[in-house]
Amino acid sequence: MDAQLFDISYLNLFTGLFVVVLLAGMLVRFWLAGRQMRHVAWRREHVPEAFAGVISQAAHQKAAAYTIAKNQFDLWSSVYSAAILIGWTLLGGLGLLNYTLLERIEHPMWQQLSLLAVFFLINGLLELPLGWFQTFRLEERFGFNKSTIGLWLGDIVKGTVMAAVIGLPLAALFLWLMQEAGSLWWLWAWAIWVVFNLLLMVIFPTFIAPLFNKFKPLEDGELAQRVQQLMQRCGFNAKGLFVMDGSKRSAHANAYFTGLGHSKRVVFFDTLLARLQPDEVEAVLAHELGHFHFRHIAKRLIAMFALSLAAFALLGWLYNQVWFYTGLGVVPNMMSPNAALALILFMLVTPVFGYFLSPLMAQLSRKHEFEADAYAVRQTGNKALPDALLKLYEDNASTLTPDPLYVKWYYSHPPASERLARMAQAA
Ligand SMILES: [Zn+2]
Repeated sequence: MDAQLFDISYLNLFTGLFVVVLLAGMLVRFWLAGRQMRHVAWRREHVPEAFAGVISQAAHQKAAAYTIAKNQFDLWSSVYSAAILIGWTLLGGLGLLNYTLLERIEHPMWQQLSLLAVFFLINGLLELPLGWFQTFRLEERFGFNKSTIGLWLGDIVKGTVMAAVIGLPLAALFLWLMQEAGSLWWLWAWAIWVVFNLLLMVIFPTFIAPLFNKFKPLEDGELAQRVQQLMQRCGFNAKGLFVMDGSKRSAHANAYFTGLGHSKRVVFFDTLLARLQPDEVEAVLAHELGHFHFRHIAKRLIAMFALSLAAFALLGWLYNQVWFYTGLGVVPNMMSPNAALALILFMLVTPVFGYFLSPLMAQLSRKHEFEADAYAVRQTGNKALPDALLKLYEDNASTLTPDPLYVKWYYSHPPASERLARMAQAA
């Protein structure tokens, strides 16, 4: 059997498709990143006219340097990750791991669960250098990193334990369905996936996020008063506003909305509150409330669930296709179930094909951002939010001159120039 693991005669048409799409994805990545870096570098010397007098030359140049450094890092990590992917699949890594566990563990369910667990552990370890470099080299170099090695390692340990506690029972349930629930197992699995995600959205803000950060209600004062009035005007429960100690890990400032039903909340990073004036914080909050007003969470969920239904149906079919395994360099088991193998291969391969869907998701997200901006302008006027955004762009060293095509493919938020222009129109 050892010899078969690396036998290239198993490779097939699907291998060809996989390699072509992987290479095409890499080419698009390099092409887009190259465009973005050139676009930013060529405009490094002059602050765009629309921002002259507001954004300093030094801040503009820092944003350019940061954007270029981030893109270089993204390219290196995508090459590194692609190498790992090839190692798992075509070079036989997953086949070898599967074979090793088959030899040592008899019970099929334990064998498959351990395959999943060991795979994720090894894969996580392989990805570790990327995370380290990003935090302690890239972010550090631009003064954004506030984390320590201890805190960083602690996060990884906590995250791994959480993933095991939540993920292993779920994985066991999926494996069981794949073997026992008949040809429509994927429909059941999808239903469980939907319920699981909804549940996660309810428990994440109250039980999981507090394991990593401290959340405090906004303290009294002028700001709290303004904020409460705004929330009343918008018909939002005032209990749902929290301040998070984001400064513990990073100097980046942000705000986000999360949760479902009673657990829904808006979270401000302490770094954001430290930087913005009360009226600007109010405008940022109004933007987040805009997301609730237009039910963006629900819309995003529906899009995600529809996509995952298609993905589960596809997996349901691939699960029984021998070429799917052999084409990816793995010989399926003859005497025991292949559910875990199918799950892992599917998770490895989906992002390769899914990369070409990212412009669609980004487009939807940018549309929602415009809507939330318009809502904020209606609630708080057309000065406070642009002022707040400019400060945030400057502090986060976000470039003001991105490449339009790069924006279309990746940006979940429209670039500053477009957002400000729209808000000025709305006045
Ligand atoms: Zn938003």
